[in-house]
Amino acid sequence: MKAIRVHEFGGPEVLLLEEIPCPSPAGGQVLVKVVAIGVNPVDTYLRSGSNPALPRPYVPGLDAAGIVESVGEGVTRVRAGERVYTAGNLTGAYAEFVLCSEFQVHPLPDMLTFAQGAAVGVAYATAYRALFQRAATRAGERVLIHGASGGVGIAAVQFARAAGFRATGTAGTEKGCLLVSQHGAEHVLNHRAPGYLEAASALTQGQGFDVILEMLANVNLGQVLPFLARNGRVVVIGSRGRVEMTPRDLMFREADVRGMSLFNLGEDELAGIHHAIGAGLRGGFLQPVVARSFQLEEAAKAHAAVLAQGALGKLVMTP
Ligand code: NAP
Repeated sequence: MKAIRVHEFGGPEVLLLEEIPCPSPAGGQVLVKVVAIGVNPVDTYLRSGSNPALPRPYVPGLDAAGIVESVGEGVTRVRAGERVYTAGNLTGAYAEFVLCSEFQVHPLPDMLTFAQGAAVGVAYATAYRALFQRAATRAGERVLIHGASGGVGIAAVQFARAAGFRATGTAGTEKGCLLVSQHGAEHVLNHRAPGYLEAASALTQGQGFDVILEMLANVNLGQVLPFLARNGRVVVIGSRGRVEMTPRDLMFREADVRGMSLFNLGEDELAGIHHAIGAGLRGGFLQPVVARSFQLEEAAKAHAAVLAQGALGKLVMTP
């Protein structure tokens, strides 16, 4: 089968298109014929070797959607021929086929495209984990989704609307702001406009945000703390470096900064999260947004694009 492999860590040019053997499912495993592949920022960190290093060569990719090709002994949740999205896998999603453990495969409702299915895994699980579990957001609370135009941000806006959270989202372009508004944010601000955090605070009548989901903590963490409400919580979802902050901003508000990493979650926790996501996809209140599609051969271009400014949802590839 065709697959992208990484033999040495480095820039996008280390993503090589190769012919490799197709895996076959052992007991408890599912082989999926891939129709669409999700591209996540973490794929680029792993490729460059900046996250804990993977053994090489490896096939990148955490998210995909497709059709179950075959199942191993004892698999009961899915059958050959079913439409599924995958969240995590055993062999890498940047390929024509991906092997998964049974718990990593979830039904894809008919009204969603495979491209939308490939946009679900990391983005929606992260948004759910951050909003409902790490921040423990309650209905009526004010949430600032700082970086709402990308995969995680749009997912968070949709969850927030469904759960009755009062979401303000930010994006860095006019189109991004429009998208965030269309998906349910009460207010939208441009994070490249001077004074936008003061404008955001004014929207809360100066009371501040109960919850902030932070997509770029190295740039923003020190800046957002003064805009937290009493007992406010910041969830650090994304960060690409160091930051300076004033701890007193937390003291007087008795506020918390909380980290999260999807990689920490066990099978049971993920099962619960994907149960909630499945309900949202079937119910129509979660609508994955695909910004752009690449061919698998263009993986290097997709990796450059996922780190560029001007997000409008998720990037996907087709094998
Ligand atoms: P993405 O689709 O590339 O979106 C990136 C988002 O960050 C866009 O909304 C972008 O807005 C926004 N952004 C850019 N500059 C910003 C700034 N100065 N202030 C606030 N937001 C800014 O990425 P994603 O998949 O949504 O992931 C977002 C971040 O979370 C990434 O760093 C990713 O690695 C991380 N992440 C972490 C976990 C975890 O388990 N902790 C899981 C998933 C993702 P514009 O492009 O419109 O400027």
